[in-house]
Amino acid sequence: MAHAVTLVPGDGIGPEVAGAARLVVDATGVEVRWDVQEAGAAVLDREGTPLPERVLRSIRSNRTALKGPITTPVGGGFRSVNVALRQELDLFAAVRPSRTLPGIPSRYPSVDVVVIRENTEDLYAGIEFERGSPELARLRDELRALAWFELKPDAGVTVKPISISGTRRIVLFAFDFARRQARRRITVGHKANIMRFSDGVFLSIAWEEAGRHPDVAFDACQVDELALRLVTEPEALDVVLLPNLYGDIVSDLCAGLAGGLGLAAGANLGWEYAVFEPVHGSAPDIAGKGVANPIAMILSAAMMLAHLGETPASNAVGMSVGRVLQEGAVRTRDLGGTAGTAEVAEAVAAMVKLMLAGSGPSTPDRGPA
Ligand code: NAD
Repeated sequence: MAHAVTLVPGDGIGPEVAGAARLVVDATGVEVRWDVQEAGAAVLDREGTPLPERVLRSIRSNRTALKGPITTPVGGGFRSVNVALRQELDLFAAVRPSRTLPGIPSRYPSVDVVVIRENTEDLYAGIEFERGSPELARLRDELRALAWFELKPDAGVTVKPISISGTRRIVLFAFDFARRQARRRITVGHKANIMRFSDGVFLSIAWEEAGRHPDVAFDACQVDELALRLVTEPEALDVVLLPNLYGDIVSDLCAGLAGGLGLAAGANLGWEYAVFEPVHGSAPDIAGKGVANPIAMILSAAMMLAHLGETPASNAVGMSVGRVLQEGAVRTRDLGGTAGTAEVAEAVAAMVKLMLAGSGPSTPDRGPA
Protein backbone atom coordinates (compact mmCIF):
# COMPACT_ATOMS: atom_id res chain seq x y z
CA MET A 1 0.00 0.00 0.00
CA ALA A 2 1.27 3.49 -0.85
CA HIS A 3 2.35 5.72 2.03
CA ALA A 4 0.54 9.05 2.10
CA VAL A 5 3.01 11.83 2.86
CA THR A 6 2.47 15.59 3.01
CA LEU A 7 5.22 17.41 1.13
CA VAL A 8 5.75 21.04 2.13
CA PRO A 9 8.32 22.48 -0.30
CA GLY A 10 8.79 25.68 1.76
CA ASP A 11 10.54 28.93 0.88
CA GLY A 12 13.85 29.92 -0.69
CA ILE A 13 15.84 26.82 -1.59
CA GLY A 14 13.02 24.66 -0.17
CA PRO A 15 11.34 23.77 -3.47
CA GLU A 16 14.73 22.93 -5.03
CA VAL A 17 15.84 20.55 -2.26
CA ALA A 18 12.31 19.14 -1.83
CA GLY A 19 12.23 18.23 -5.54
CA ALA A 20 15.62 16.55 -5.13
CA ALA A 21 14.48 14.49 -2.13
CA ARG A 22 11.30 13.47 -3.91
CA LEU A 23 13.31 12.23 -6.89
CA VAL A 24 15.49 10.09 -4.60
CA VAL A 25 12.55 8.66 -2.63
CA ASP A 26 10.78 7.80 -5.86
CA ALA A 27 13.97 6.06 -7.05
CA THR A 28 13.71 3.62 -4.12
CA GLY A 29 10.50 2.23 -5.61
CA VAL A 30 8.68 2.77 -2.30
CA GLU A 31 5.21 3.90 -3.24
CA VAL A 32 4.52 7.34 -1.83
CA ARG A 33 1.38 9.35 -2.50
CA TRP A 34 2.70 12.90 -2.18
CA ASP A 35 0.21 15.51 -1.02
CA VAL A 36 2.00 18.77 -1.91
CA GLN A 37 1.01 21.62 0.40
CA GLU A 38 2.53 25.06 0.04
CA ALA A 39 3.22 27.07 3.17
CA GLY A 40 5.40 30.00 4.19
CA ALA A 41 6.11 33.42 2.77
CA ALA A 42 5.00 32.19 -0.67
CA VAL A 43 1.36 31.74 0.41
CA LEU A 44 1.13 34.60 2.92
CA ASP A 45 -0.05 37.13 0.33
CA ARG A 46 -2.47 34.72 -1.32
CA GLU A 47 -4.04 33.15 1.75
CA GLY A 48 -3.38 35.73 4.49
CA THR A 49 -1.41 33.26 6.64
CA PRO A 50 1.87 31.42 6.11
CA LEU A 51 0.42 28.28 7.70
CA PRO A 52 -3.05 27.69 6.25
CA GLU A 53 -5.29 25.22 8.08
CA ARG A 54 -5.23 22.92 5.00
CA VAL A 55 -1.53 22.18 5.68
CA LEU A 56 -2.24 21.06 9.25
CA ARG A 57 -5.28 19.08 8.06
CA SER A 58 -3.14 17.28 5.50
CA ILE A 59 -0.42 16.37 8.04
CA ARG A 60 -3.02 15.27 10.59
CA SER A 61 -4.58 13.03 7.99
CA ASN A 62 -1.31 11.59 6.56
CA ARG A 63 0.55 11.64 9.92
CA THR A 64 3.88 12.03 8.13
CA ALA A 65 5.36 15.05 6.35
CA LEU A 66 8.55 15.96 4.56
CA LYS A 67 9.15 19.67 4.84
CA GLY A 68 11.51 22.20 3.28
CA PRO A 69 12.70 25.24 5.22
CA ILE A 70 10.37 28.19 5.76
CA THR A 71 11.48 31.80 6.09
CA THR A 72 10.72 33.63 9.33
CA PRO A 73 11.08 37.41 9.14
CA VAL A 74 13.28 38.75 11.95
CA GLY A 75 11.53 40.88 14.57
CA GLY A 76 8.03 40.99 13.10
CA GLY A 77 5.78 39.90 10.26
CA PHE A 78 4.38 36.51 11.18
CA ARG A 79 5.10 34.04 13.92
CA SER A 80 7.54 31.30 12.93
CA VAL A 81 5.70 28.64 10.92
CA ASN A 82 8.24 26.10 12.15
CA VAL A 83 7.54 26.84 15.80
CA ALA A 84 3.78 26.91 15.16
CA LEU A 85 3.86 23.53 13.37
CA ARG A 86 5.79 21.91 16.22
CA GLN A 87 3.34 23.27 18.76
CA GLU A 88 0.13 22.60 16.79
CA LEU A 89 1.13 18.97 16.11
CA ASP A 90 2.86 18.54 19.48
CA LEU A 91 6.09 17.46 17.79
CA PHE A 92 7.95 17.53 21.08
CA ALA A 93 11.17 15.81 20.01
CA ALA A 94 13.65 17.03 17.42
CA VAL A 95 16.24 14.44 16.43
CA ARG A 96 19.28 15.78 14.60
CA PRO A 97 22.11 13.38 13.81
CA SER A 98 25.51 14.77 12.82
CA ARG A 99 28.02 12.33 11.48
CA THR A 100 31.19 12.85 9.49
CA LEU A 101 30.37 11.55 6.03
CA PRO A 102 32.86 9.79 3.75
CA GLY A 103 35.11 12.05 1.72
CA ILE A 104 33.91 15.26 3.36
CA PRO A 105 36.82 17.43 4.48
CA SER A 106 36.41 18.15 8.18
CA ARG A 107 38.59 19.21 11.08
CA TYR A 108 36.84 16.50 13.07
CA PRO A 109 37.14 13.15 11.32
CA SER A 110 35.00 11.07 13.67
CA VAL A 111 31.94 13.04 14.71
CA ASP A 112 28.88 10.91 15.41
CA VAL A 113 26.58 12.91 17.66
CA VAL A 114 22.78 12.97 17.83
CA VAL A 115 21.18 16.08 19.28
CA ILE A 116 17.77 15.48 20.84
CA ARG A 117 16.04 18.78 21.41
CA GLU A 118 12.86 19.47 23.35
CA ASN A 119 10.73 21.22 20.77
CA THR A 120 7.73 22.85 22.46
CA GLU A 121 8.75 24.67 25.65
CA ASP A 122 11.46 27.02 26.86
CA LEU A 123 12.01 30.45 25.33
CA TYR A 124 10.39 29.23 22.10
CA ALA A 125 7.01 28.65 23.75
CA GLY A 126 5.87 31.95 22.25
CA ILE A 127 5.07 33.78 25.52
CA GLU A 128 6.24 37.27 24.69
CA PHE A 129 5.51 40.77 25.92
CA GLU A 130 6.23 43.61 23.51
CA ARG A 131 8.18 46.62 24.75
CA GLY A 132 5.81 49.48 25.58
CA SER A 133 2.62 47.36 25.38
CA PRO A 134 -0.17 47.60 28.01
CA GLU A 135 0.34 43.88 28.75
CA LEU A 136 3.98 44.52 29.55
CA ALA A 137 2.98 47.39 31.83
CA ARG A 138 0.79 44.94 33.77
CA LEU A 139 3.58 42.39 33.86
CA ARG A 140 5.91 45.06 35.33
CA ASP A 141 3.40 45.71 38.11
CA GLU A 142 3.09 41.98 38.82
CA LEU A 143 6.85 41.48 38.87
CA ARG A 144 7.22 44.41 41.25
CA ALA A 145 4.58 42.92 43.56
CA LEU A 146 5.69 39.29 43.32
CA ALA A 147 9.45 39.47 43.08
CA TRP A 148 10.37 43.06 44.00
CA PHE A 149 11.85 43.21 40.54
CA GLU A 150 11.92 46.51 38.70
CA LEU A 151 11.75 45.78 35.00
CA LYS A 152 13.34 48.51 32.89
CA PRO A 153 10.64 50.51 31.08
CA ASP A 154 12.41 49.97 27.74
CA ALA A 155 12.60 46.16 28.08
CA GLY A 156 10.79 43.52 26.05
CA VAL A 157 10.20 40.13 27.70
CA THR A 158 10.19 36.49 26.59
CA VAL A 159 9.16 33.87 29.15
CA LYS A 160 10.94 30.55 29.63
CA PRO A 161 8.60 27.81 30.84
CA ILE A 162 10.00 24.29 31.39
CA SER A 163 7.62 21.75 32.92
CA ILE A 164 8.11 18.39 34.61
CA SER A 165 5.71 16.70 32.17
CA GLY A 166 7.29 18.36 29.10
CA THR A 167 10.73 17.34 30.30
CA ARG A 168 9.85 13.81 31.33
CA ARG A 169 8.51 12.88 27.90
CA ILE A 170 11.61 14.13 26.07
CA VAL A 171 13.91 12.42 28.56
CA LEU A 172 12.02 9.12 28.17
CA PHE A 173 12.13 9.61 24.39
CA ALA A 174 15.93 10.07 24.60
CA PHE A 175 16.46 6.89 26.64
CA ASP A 176 14.22 4.92 24.29
CA PHE A 177 16.06 6.36 21.26
CA ALA A 178 19.48 5.54 22.77
CA ARG A 179 18.44 1.97 23.45
CA ARG A 180 16.89 1.37 20.02
CA GLN A 181 19.83 2.92 18.18
CA ALA A 182 22.44 1.14 20.34
CA ARG A 183 23.85 4.42 21.60
CA ARG A 184 26.01 4.27 24.71
CA ARG A 185 25.58 7.59 26.52
CA ILE A 186 23.23 10.55 26.99
CA THR A 187 24.68 13.92 27.98
CA VAL A 188 22.28 16.61 29.16
CA GLY A 189 23.20 20.27 28.62
CA HIS A 190 21.70 22.89 30.95
CA LYS A 191 22.29 26.11 32.82
CA ALA A 192 20.56 25.05 36.03
CA ASN A 193 23.01 26.96 38.21
CA ILE A 194 21.61 30.25 36.82
CA MET A 195 18.05 29.27 35.79
CA ARG A 196 17.20 27.11 38.79
CA PHE A 197 13.46 26.92 38.21
CA SER A 198 13.44 26.22 34.46
CA ASP A 199 16.70 24.47 33.53
CA GLY A 200 16.65 23.16 37.11
CA VAL A 201 13.48 21.20 36.29
CA PHE A 202 15.04 19.82 33.10
CA LEU A 203 18.16 18.68 34.93
CA SER A 204 16.45 17.13 37.94
CA ILE A 205 13.96 15.14 35.85
CA ALA A 206 16.77 13.93 33.59
CA TRP A 207 18.73 12.68 36.63
CA GLU A 208 15.59 11.08 38.05
CA GLU A 209 14.93 9.10 34.84
CA ALA A 210 18.64 8.26 34.45
CA GLY A 211 18.35 6.44 37.79
CA ARG A 212 15.54 4.33 36.32
CA HIS A 213 17.47 3.55 33.10
CA PRO A 214 20.89 2.39 34.27
CA ASP A 215 21.55 0.49 31.01
CA VAL A 216 22.36 3.80 29.24
CA ALA A 217 25.27 5.86 30.61
CA PHE A 218 24.28 9.38 31.60
CA ASP A 219 26.01 12.59 32.50
CA ALA A 220 25.19 16.30 32.61
CA CYS A 221 27.17 19.44 31.96
CA GLN A 222 26.54 23.13 31.65
CA VAL A 223 25.76 24.13 28.11
CA ASP A 224 28.76 26.47 27.80
CA GLU A 225 31.06 23.64 28.87
CA LEU A 226 29.22 21.39 26.41
CA ALA A 227 30.04 23.84 23.59
CA LEU A 228 33.71 23.61 24.56
CA ARG A 229 33.61 19.82 24.75
CA LEU A 230 31.96 19.63 21.34
CA VAL A 231 34.83 21.44 19.66
CA THR A 232 37.62 19.83 21.69
CA GLU A 233 36.47 16.22 22.04
CA PRO A 234 33.38 15.67 19.87
CA GLU A 235 34.15 11.96 19.64
CA ALA A 236 33.49 11.67 23.40
CA LEU A 237 29.86 12.76 22.94
CA ASP A 238 27.10 10.49 21.76
CA VAL A 239 23.46 11.56 22.37
CA VAL A 240 23.14 15.16 23.54
CA LEU A 241 19.80 16.05 25.16
CA LEU A 242 18.87 19.72 25.38
CA PRO A 243 16.02 22.13 26.10
CA ASN A 244 14.67 23.96 23.06
CA LEU A 245 16.92 27.02 22.62
CA TYR A 246 20.23 25.30 23.41
CA GLY A 247 19.16 22.42 21.14
CA ASP A 248 18.58 24.79 18.26
CA ILE A 249 22.01 26.38 18.63
CA VAL A 250 23.97 23.21 19.41
CA SER A 251 22.49 21.27 16.48
CA ASP A 252 23.81 23.91 14.06
CA LEU A 253 27.17 23.69 15.83
CA CYS A 254 27.18 19.91 15.40
CA ALA A 255 26.20 20.30 11.73
CA GLY A 256 29.27 22.53 11.35
CA LEU A 257 31.50 19.95 13.02
CA ALA A 258 30.36 17.27 10.59
CA GLY A 259 30.71 19.14 7.31
CA GLY A 260 28.13 21.92 7.23
CA LEU A 261 24.43 22.73 7.14
CA GLY A 262 24.04 21.24 3.68
CA LEU A 263 24.41 17.76 5.20
CA ALA A 264 22.41 18.00 8.44
CA ALA A 265 19.10 16.12 8.49
CA GLY A 266 16.40 16.20 11.12
CA ALA A 267 13.09 14.85 12.35
CA ASN A 268 10.39 16.41 14.52
CA LEU A 269 8.46 13.70 16.28
CA GLY A 270 5.44 13.47 18.55
CA TRP A 271 3.22 10.62 19.68
CA GLU A 272 0.98 11.02 16.63
CA TYR A 273 2.78 12.90 13.87
CA ALA A 274 6.22 13.10 12.33
CA VAL A 275 7.67 15.94 10.25
CA PHE A 276 11.07 15.43 8.64
CA GLU A 277 13.11 18.47 7.64
CA PRO A 278 16.72 19.57 7.20
CA VAL A 279 18.38 21.64 9.93
CA HIS A 280 19.21 24.44 7.50
CA GLY A 281 17.00 27.41 6.66
CA SER A 282 15.67 28.78 3.39
CA ALA A 283 19.10 30.22 2.40
CA PRO A 284 17.76 33.28 0.54
CA ASP A 285 21.31 34.13 -0.58
CA ILE A 286 21.42 31.12 -2.92
CA ALA A 287 17.70 30.53 -3.58
CA GLY A 288 16.65 29.97 -7.20
CA LYS A 289 20.22 29.43 -8.41
CA GLY A 290 20.10 25.64 -8.48
CA VAL A 291 23.23 25.38 -6.31
CA ALA A 292 21.78 24.37 -2.92
CA ASN A 293 23.06 21.16 -1.44
CA PRO A 294 20.11 18.73 -1.34
CA ILE A 295 21.86 16.12 0.86
CA ALA A 296 20.36 17.38 4.17
CA MET A 297 16.88 17.12 2.69
CA ILE A 298 17.64 13.74 1.09
CA LEU A 299 18.91 12.38 4.42
CA SER A 300 15.80 13.76 6.13
CA ALA A 301 13.78 11.77 3.60
CA ALA A 302 15.87 8.69 4.48
CA MET A 303 14.92 9.19 8.14
CA MET A 304 11.31 9.41 6.99
CA LEU A 305 11.59 6.12 5.08
CA ALA A 306 12.96 4.43 8.21
CA HIS A 307 10.05 5.87 10.21
CA LEU A 308 7.62 4.44 7.63
CA GLY A 309 9.17 1.00 8.12
CA GLU A 310 10.94 1.08 4.75
CA THR A 311 14.32 0.12 6.20
CA PRO A 312 16.03 -1.27 3.07
CA ALA A 313 15.05 1.86 1.10
CA SER A 314 16.22 4.11 3.93
CA ASN A 315 19.56 2.29 4.15
CA ALA A 316 19.96 2.42 0.37
CA VAL A 317 19.49 6.20 0.40
CA GLY A 318 21.95 6.66 3.29
CA MET A 319 24.55 4.45 1.62
CA SER A 320 24.05 6.07 -1.79
CA VAL A 321 24.65 9.52 -0.33
CA GLY A 322 27.83 8.19 1.30
CA ARG A 323 28.98 6.62 -1.95
CA VAL A 324 28.32 9.71 -4.10
CA LEU A 325 30.15 11.92 -1.59
CA GLN A 326 33.05 9.48 -1.37
CA GLU A 327 33.44 9.32 -5.14
CA GLY A 328 33.67 13.10 -5.00
CA ALA A 329 32.82 13.88 -8.63
CA VAL A 330 29.33 15.26 -7.94
CA ARG A 331 29.27 17.76 -5.10
CA THR A 332 27.68 21.14 -4.59
CA ARG A 333 29.86 24.18 -4.08
CA ASP A 334 29.43 24.32 -0.28
CA LEU A 335 31.43 21.05 -0.32
CA GLY A 336 34.02 22.38 -2.74
CA GLY A 337 32.37 21.02 -5.89
CA THR A 338 30.68 22.57 -8.91
CA ALA A 339 27.57 20.41 -9.30
CA GLY A 340 24.05 21.79 -9.05
CA THR A 341 21.20 20.58 -6.85
CA ALA A 342 19.60 18.51 -9.61
CA GLU A 343 22.88 16.83 -10.58
CA VAL A 344 23.47 15.66 -7.01
CA ALA A 345 19.89 14.40 -6.75
CA GLU A 346 20.22 12.50 -10.03
CA ALA A 347 23.54 10.94 -8.96
CA VAL A 348 22.08 9.78 -5.63
CA ALA A 349 18.89 8.51 -7.29
CA ALA A 350 20.93 6.54 -9.85
CA MET A 351 23.05 5.01 -7.06
CA VAL A 352 19.90 4.09 -5.11
CA LYS A 353 18.53 2.25 -8.13
CA LEU A 354 21.83 0.40 -8.61
CA MET A 355 21.97 -0.58 -4.97
CA LEU A 356 18.41 -1.79 -4.76
CA ALA A 357 18.86 -3.73 -8.00
CA GLY A 358 21.62 -5.59 -6.18
CA SER A 359 24.42 -4.51 -8.48
CA GLY A 360 25.66 -1.54 -6.49
CA PRO A 361 28.33 -1.36 -3.80
CA SER A 362 27.03 -3.01 -0.69
CA THR A 363 29.57 -1.91 1.91
CA PRO A 364 27.40 -1.44 4.97
CA ASP A 365 27.63 2.19 5.93
CA ARG A 366 25.25 3.16 8.70
CA GLY A 367 22.24 4.95 7.29
CA PRO A 368 20.86 7.98 9.06
CA ALA A 369 20.07 7.50 12.73
P1 NAD B 1 20.23 29.26 6.51
O1 NAD B 1 20.43 27.88 7.05
O2 NAD B 1 19.13 29.47 5.55
O3 NAD B 1 21.60 29.75 5.79
C1 NAD B 1 22.83 29.88 6.49
C2 NAD B 1 23.98 29.75 5.48
O4 NAD B 1 24.10 28.39 5.08
C3 NAD B 1 23.76 30.56 4.21
O5 NAD B 1 25.01 31.05 3.77
C4 NAD B 1 23.23 29.54 3.22
O6 NAD B 1 23.53 29.83 1.87
C5 NAD B 1 23.94 28.26 3.67
N1 NAD B 1 23.12 27.08 3.42
C6 NAD B 1 22.01 26.69 4.11
N2 NAD B 1 21.50 25.59 3.58
C7 NAD B 1 22.29 25.25 2.53
C8 NAD B 1 22.27 24.21 1.56
N3 NAD B 1 21.32 23.25 1.59
N4 NAD B 1 23.22 24.19 0.61
C9 NAD B 1 24.17 25.12 0.58
N5 NAD B 1 24.26 26.15 1.46
C10 NAD B 1 23.32 26.21 2.42
O7 NAD B 1 20.09 30.23 7.76
P2 NAD B 1 19.57 31.73 7.84
O8 NAD B 1 20.15 32.52 6.69
O9 NAD B 1 19.86 32.15 9.22
O10 NAD B 1 18.01 31.62 7.67
C11 NAD B 1 17.30 31.94 6.48
C12 NAD B 1 15.82 31.81 6.78
O11 NAD B 1 15.49 30.44 7.06
C13 NAD B 1 15.35 32.61 8.00
O12 NAD B 1 14.11 33.21 7.69
C14 NAD B 1 15.17 31.57 9.08
O13 NAD B 1 14.21 31.95 10.03
C15 NAD B 1 14.73 30.38 8.27
N6 NAD B 1 15.01 29.08 8.92
C16 NAD B 1 14.06 28.12 8.75
C17 NAD B 1 14.28 26.87 9.28
C18 NAD B 1 13.22 25.82 9.07
O14 NAD B 1 12.33 25.99 8.25
N7 NAD B 1 13.26 24.73 9.81
C19 NAD B 1 15.47 26.58 9.96
C20 NAD B 1 16.42 27.57 10.08
C21 NAD B 1 16.18 28.83 9.54
